[in-house]
Amino acid sequence: MMETMLESHRDEQHPHQAEDFHRKLEQNSKLSGIKKDIEKLYEAVPQLVNVFKIKEKIGEGTFSSVYLATAQLQTGLEEKMALKHLIPTSHPLRIAAELQCLTVAGGQDNVMGVKYCFRKNDHVVIVMPYLEHESFLDILNSLSFEEVREYMFNLFKALRRIHHFGIVHRDVKPSNFLYNRQLKKYALVDFGLAQGTPDTKIELLKTAHSEDQQEDSVHHSVQRSVFGERNFNVYSSTYQENSSTKVKLIKQAKVIDVSSRKLVTKKKIIFTKTVSNGAARKAAGPLNPPCDCYATDRVCSVCLSRPQQVAPRAGTPGFRAPEVLTKCPTQTTAIDMWSAGIIFLSLLSGRYPFFKASDDLTALAQIMTVRGSRETIQAARTFGKSVVCTQVVPTQNLRTLCEKLRGTNSGCKRSQGEVPKGSENDSALPFAVDKPCAPEALGKQIQQRKSLKEGDSALEIKATDMKGWDQVPDEAYDLLDKLLDLNPATRVTAKEALLHPFFKDIRL
Ligand code: ADP
Ligand code: MG
Ligand code: ZN
Repeated sequence: MMETMLESHRDEQHPHQAEDFHRKLEQNSKLSGIKKDIEKLYEAVPQLVNVFKIKEKIGEGTFSSVYLATAQLQTGLEEKMALKHLIPTSHPLRIAAELQCLTVAGGQDNVMGVKYCFRKNDHVVIVMPYLEHESFLDILNSLSFEEVREYMFNLFKALRRIHHFGIVHRDVKPSNFLYNRQLKKYALVDFGLAQGTPDTKIELLKTAHSEDQQEDSVHHSVQRSVFGERNFNVYSSTYQENSSTKVKLIKQAKVIDVSSRKLVTKKKIIFTKTVSNGAARKAAGPLNPPCDCYATDRVCSVCLSRPQQVAPRAGTPGFRAPEVLTKCPTQTTAIDMWSAGIIFLSLLSGRYPFFKASDDLTALAQIMTVRGSRETIQAARTFGKSVVCTQVVPTQNLRTLCEKLRGTNSGCKRSQGEVPKGSENDSALPFAVDKPCAPEALGKQIQQRKSLKEGDSALEIKATDMKGWDQVPDEAYDLLDKLLDLNPATRVTAKEALLHPFFKDIRL
């Protein structure tokens, strides 16, 4: 077997086979790794042996591994299930809370349910119905506009349900919203980071709450206090090549982290400070010497020694709402609506991930490039945060932005060079995405349509080839605008979103 593979690998007429060969080797070692993981899981939770045939690993994250398994039913039929093995270090309360979200809110309205749960010692396995699903990135550019409308409608249905139960999911993103395109089935999964609203109906989210915040602040202590200088070469046409925008929060920190302090002084970079509005000076009470860095892009030693603010933080930076990024201590279900807005933005623009940032202030700077710096700063003020930004960036028209990125703005000419590409690191904006600007197929169609207009009547193009992307109604961008409301207090709720004119006459 090995020999025959090596043999063909030498065949000069098939240069790709060398790559194939190595890929296969890699796959093999990965497979045996997974086999071992499956064996280990059977050993850790032996109850599973009699019930499930574990087939393959379908997900692996920091906090869990998910497997596809089949169960032999009494009827003789086999049923597919998803087994989520939580890392043994998960806090028992956290696990119980995740399970309670699934049992209380799940099983309806596109919220994943739970079938069984197995435990031995510190190993917990949650058994859910299996929903085969697509990879978001794989299908992003083949979705019709109508499919996108249905997708968003179903996401809001799931969010309306969990929000009704006082669950804030905190990690809404495509990999946590399973989508089976053929069956038109959807499921919101992963309550591993969920928290309760003050009046939550999930008992265990009441207790898990405060503990999480602490844990979280420890985990992120280094990352959260230091932010690099980032170039905003987003609109290279309007900006100077070397222009850079610095964003700063006036921070009121609770726990000072020595390692982060070192980083700050060593690199002399931009970072964040947070205070309740205008409190920079007030914070310097009788015990504190006065601060002299307010509204500058430095951070003085007084501010450096301030304790860090503890606020819940979770999820992926590119999906975090401005109030999460600025560590606003009161966060509501509105944060999930922002994340849904980011998904919608990806669907409308054909870009995923839309924002790619490894830290919160970069993410905030990227939001500014779409929603405007003044607007962002002003919204932050409404929830008690001061943000300083060294550059003014205007708000963008959402339709223009999305059409440009998708390549459906037939109104103006589009060439490869027109959409600025992102730099290697977390530069601002969708241009951080590796893909070339528009889906190629659509691009070609536009070309063809243009030549049609120019009088080349020999070409016959059907409008249906555009899959509805040439007729995106204003309602879509109106809803997007309401989801990406910088102010959580006025941001559209899931219930309201479902009643938005965008969804009128939806056939489901
Ligand atoms: P994590 O906390 O590790 O992100 P998730 O609950 O999000 O765990 O599951 C990880 C991945 O496993 C999901 O992105 C999805 O691909 C897959 N998965 C989870 N639950 C199911 C399910 N019920 N059916 C099918 N696939 C699932
Ligand atoms: Mg997940
Ligand atoms: Zn200061």
